[in-house]
Amino acid sequence: MLSSPEIWREFFETYYRDEINKLASRILSGDGKNRSIYVNYLNDLAIYKEGRLGEELVEHPDIVLKHADEGLRLAENIHGVELDGCRTRVVNLPSLKKVLIRDLRSDHIAKFIAIEGIVRKVTEVRPRIVTAVFICGICGKRIEVEQEDVTVKYPYECKACKSKRFILVPEECKSVDSQRIKIQEYPENLRGGEQPQSIDVYLEGDVAGKVNPGDRVIINGIVRAKPRAAGSKKLLHMDIHIEGNSIEVLQQEYEEFEITEEDREEIMRLGEDPELYTKIVKSIAPTIYGYDDIKLAIALQLFGGIPKKLPDGTEIRGDIHILLVGDPGVAKSQLLRYVHRVAPRSVYTTGKGTTTAGLTATAVRDEVDGRWTLEAGALVLADKGIALVDEIDKMRSEDRSALHEAMEQQTVTVAKAGINAILRARCALLGAANPKYGRFDRYLPIAEQIELSPTLLSRFDLIFVMTDDPDEERDAILAKHVLDTHQLGEKLERMKNVATSEYAREALEIEAKRVEPVIDPELLRKYIAYAKRTVFPVLTEEAKERIIEFYLSLRGRVKENSPVPITARQLEALIRLAEASARLRLSDRITVEDVDRVISIVRRSLEQIAVDPETGQIDIDYAYSGTSKSQRDKIVVIKRIVEELEKSTDKGAPEEMILERAEEHGIDREKSREILYKMKQRGELYCPKPNHYRVVHND
Ligand code: ADP
Ligand code: MG
Repeated sequence: MLSSPEIWREFFETYYRDEINKLASRILSGDGKNRSIYVNYLNDLAIYKEGRLGEELVEHPDIVLKHADEGLRLAENIHGVELDGCRTRVVNLPSLKKVLIRDLRSDHIAKFIAIEGIVRKVTEVRPRIVTAVFICGICGKRIEVEQEDVTVKYPYECKACKSKRFILVPEECKSVDSQRIKIQEYPENLRGGEQPQSIDVYLEGDVAGKVNPGDRVIINGIVRAKPRAAGSKKLLHMDIHIEGNSIEVLQQEYEEFEITEEDREEIMRLGEDPELYTKIVKSIAPTIYGYDDIKLAIALQLFGGIPKKLPDGTEIRGDIHILLVGDPGVAKSQLLRYVHRVAPRSVYTTGKGTTTAGLTATAVRDEVDGRWTLEAGALVLADKGIALVDEIDKMRSEDRSALHEAMEQQTVTVAKAGINAILRARCALLGAANPKYGRFDRYLPIAEQIELSPTLLSRFDLIFVMTDDPDEERDAILAKHVLDTHQLGEKLERMKNVATSEYAREALEIEAKRVEPVIDPELLRKYIAYAKRTVFPVLTEEAKERIIEFYLSLRGRVKENSPVPITARQLEALIRLAEASARLRLSDRITVEDVDRVISIVRRSLEQIAVDPETGQIDIDYAYSGTSKSQRDKIVVIKRIVEELEKSTDKGAPEEMILERAEEHGIDREKSREILYKMKQRGELYCPKPNHYRVVHND
């Protein structure tokens, strides 16, 4: 073996003179925290002595790292201080030494490797005893014992008096900061339905407490195995974990896509295609028939608006949130799953969540050692990507409150027990919800039909309603589309599995073209990544004017004392969508064309959710709160009538008289009955006897 403390000393003195001097001066100045030297494998170890030292490190990390630390201690520095207790940490391993979490095998045990993934959980940082100090319970002799495992190892017996009773002295023990974290595979690398795999990483010293859930990291370290325990027995099956030597936090968002010169040319060509928008729409879930407006909205969501930091420090999100509400069986879930497949960095989950952390994040007690653990949920794991949340209406109550913050500030705050953390959740949200009563009723406001609060609904940039209304023409086309798709699938399976299949590959390939995405998904991913990375468009003056015009036209549409049809939230949504539209065609300028495209989408969304059926006008209040201006006016009138009538009787206002009076005010009997019923349900009225009403006063 080449490795020895002497060789490492030479290595450090040759390549890391500056770093060692800096480390020495940190120690001189009493900085106890940062006591590591980071050795760059690819830059230095791979070159030094033809890379032999590096190879030895990978194969025999325990002994080689000991040599390294010893070599570091011996290395000269200008301050002449002893570099005692300093650690060698190795980063930037060659990609050959990188192992996928799911590929970790017994061969890797005791080897130095790199894994990459997303931080799912972190425990609190707490001291762990490395050398325990005991006092003999009989003669008082002091005994030191090196510690390795989870539980305290006691001395066998006192050397002086042979007693076996000892008292641990915690204050005198030597300890080191320790933390356990869980790394999970990148969600986007999973193929349909696979559960992500994860591995525990133990961190000690100055690398503890460095990462947060949601961070994407490379962990370099040694693979360790420990027999599983069943009660007090140890099993032959082992669990593996990684003893982390160093962490590299990855910053880039879309860097995981390598874009070659060839890719770039293809991207540019696509960017200039006059049919670009149609082609992208046709590339999103081609096996799902129709919904072109929703697909275009999703396309814009994939590109996203521009996140901005204003001079006063305000941060404005660029991510576009979309909600699909609709009848069962209209392909909501299918759409979400498809987006999961094409979107770079996406996390698919259901409202109920698949982990204890649910949609956001939570602090839980660790089952192994009782430490508080911070665990990331879907929106944190989707940081800088897109979260696909099916059946979002079924989410837990903890998530409901956290979602407001996550959608607007794009952070998740956890303050519970020992844990105080603000996690980043810079992601776009695509949610799907089913109506409460099974089917969507277009004459009832959306807020009454799904279990989402008005304030939460208002955080979506776009809401689409997908209803399953029988329509002979559309049904026929849809049925043909679905049947053709299934038949094609059957033929393909038959060709694959039956040797005597009568289908010619060529013929099927031609047929398959029909439901194939126009743009190859791989290219589309790269195209999106490229656009998000490099395209930052700016509003032109004409585009600004057009947005203002549209905004004012909606706000001004109704006269004085009328509902506010559109709010500043929708204005921001318009801007984000227009930015995405420009980005989609790799344009540096947001033009009137972008604004018009976006206005038509927004208008369609508003028409589906925000038209007060009584007046036929767009009314955002109606969409989000379920009470339109026209209805609020009627409620006020009816309440006044009840108040007046109940004065003259102690049995409450008779329904018949209320209906009569209301008719005089132009409210038909049917409507009045409905309002009475609703007010009673909401606890604004009560019935002292059947068909008699009184107003509930809250004083
Ligand atoms: P949801 O989540 O809205 O209840 P699903 O996504 O589970 O509905 O869809 C039910 C099934 O109906 C799926 O197999 C889907 O492919 C099919 N389907 C529904 N609408 C369409 C459509 N427009 N085009 C193609 N398939 C459809
Ligand atoms: Mg579904």
